[in-house]
Amino acid sequence: ETPPGYRPLDDGTLAGYLARSGDIAARLGGGPEEWQVREVGDGNLNLVFIVTGPAGGVAVKQALPYVRLVGESWPLPLSRAFFEHEALAEQGRVAPAQTPRIYHYDHEMALTVMELLRPHVIMRKGLAAGIRYPHFARDIAQFMATTLFYTSDLALPAAEKKRRMAVFCGNTALCKITEDLIFTDPYRVAELNRWTSPQLDKTAAEFRADTAAKAAISELKRKFLTSAEAMIHGDLHTGSIMVTATETKVIDPEFSFYGPMGFDIGAVIGNLLLAYFAQAGHEAEPSQRDGYRAWILDQVDQVWTKFEGIFLGLWKDHHGGDLYPADLFADAEGQAALRRVRADYTTRLFADSVGFAAAKMIRRILGLAHIEELETIADPDVRATCEKRALRLARDMLVNRGSYRSIGDVTAAAKKS
Ligand code: ADP
Ligand code: MG
Ligand code: MG
Ligand code: MG
Repeated sequence: ETPPGYRPLDDGTLAGYLARSGDIAARLGGGPEEWQVREVGDGNLNLVFIVTGPAGGVAVKQALPYVRLVGESWPLPLSRAFFEHEALAEQGRVAPAQTPRIYHYDHEMALTVMELLRPHVIMRKGLAAGIRYPHFARDIAQFMATTLFYTSDLALPAAEKKRRMAVFCGNTALCKITEDLIFTDPYRVAELNRWTSPQLDKTAAEFRADTAAKAAISELKRKFLTSAEAMIHGDLHTGSIMVTATETKVIDPEFSFYGPMGFDIGAVIGNLLLAYFAQAGHEAEPSQRDGYRAWILDQVDQVWTKFEGIFLGLWKDHHGGDLYPADLFADAEGQAALRRVRADYTTRLFADSVGFAAAKMIRRILGLAHIEELETIADPDVRATCEKRALRLARDMLVNRGSYRSIGDVTAAAKKS
C-alpha cells in the first residue's frame, strides 16, 4: 500500500532530500552540511521538522503510514498529506494572511515543505501562560469566514463545488477518526477513553447513560456525515493555530473535507471555553487570572461576532454561487426575504456552532485526546473541578443548543457554570 518512492525521513536524511530542490536550498542558504534539522512534531499523527540554514528556515511535515502517537498497530493512510496540501492551497488563496506558504509538495513522500512560522507559538500554550493576542479574534474570524464562504454554494457554481467536494471525498480515514472519537466514543464504553479518575468516574458514567446527550451528539454526527456546506479545516482547535502579537496562522488541515461550517467555528469556541475553565489550574491564587478569564470570554464573543460580520459582508458583495440567485430576490419584497434568509442562515449556523463547540469540549475531557491546558494541571482535584465545570456547560450547550440565542448567552452561561 505504501508507494515505492516513500520512505520516512529523519534528522540524518532530511537535509540530503531538501538539497535536491534548488529553491529550498537557496532559501536555506549555504550547503546541507550547514543546515540544522530538528524534529519538533508534538502532534498526534505526523512528523514535523524545522530546518534552518544560514539564510533562512523551512518547516517540513511528513505523514507516516500509521498514527505517530500509537505506532504501527494503528495504520493511517499517507493520503492525509495530499488532503492537507489541497486544503492549504485553497486556504492560501482565500486567506493568505492566515496560511503558511507552501514551498514544495511531494506526493509519493507524503511530504510538504512550508513556511517556517517563527516566532509564532501554538496558541494553546499561550492560553495556558495567560498571554493575550490582540488580533486573534479578527484574524481567525477572517480565516473562517473566507475559507467557509468561498468554498460554499453561496460563492461557487454547483458543478465547481461538486468537483472540489469530489477531491476530498477520499479523506474517509480522518473523517472516521472524528466520527468515532468526537461523536461516539465519549458516550459509550470505549477502550481509548480516559478521564481524570476517580474524580470524574461518576460524571463519565452519567454521560454514557445520558439519552438526551446521545440523541443530541448523534444529530450533530448526522450533520457531520451529510452536510457538505463548505471545505472545513476539520481540526481547528487552538493547537492548530500559531500566533504572535500581530499574526495568526492556521496549520494542520489534514482532516479537511466538505462538511458543516459550524464544526470549525465550534472548534475555536469550544477550545477557548476549555482554556477559560482551565485557568483555575494556572493561577498562583484564586482570582489572579480573572482579567485573563474575561479576555478569553471576550474572544469567544468576538470570534462569533466578527465571523458573522465578515461572512455576511462577503455574502452581500458576492453573487457567484448557485444558491439564492440574485434575480430571484431582485424586487423590494425579494430583498426583504433575502434579509430573512441571511438571518435564518446565521441563526442556524450559530446553533450548529454551539453544538459542535460542546462536542469538542466533551471529547477533550472524556475521550482519547486531551489538551495541554488541562493536562498540565498537576493537582488532579483542581483539574477535575475545572473539567466538571466545562462538562456542565458543554452538556447544556449540546442538549439545549437552540436555547442559546446569542453568543452573549454562551459567555453568560460559562460564567455561571
Ligand atoms: P500533527 O498533524 O501531527 O498534529 P501539526 O501540523 O499540528 O502536526 O504540527 C505539529 C507541530 O509542529 C505544531 O504543534 C508546531 O509546533 C510545529 N509546526 C507545524 N508546522 C509548523 C510551521 N509551519 N512552522 C513552525 N512550526 C510548525
Ligand atoms: Mg496538529
Ligand atoms: Mg495580522
Ligand atoms: Mg494533524
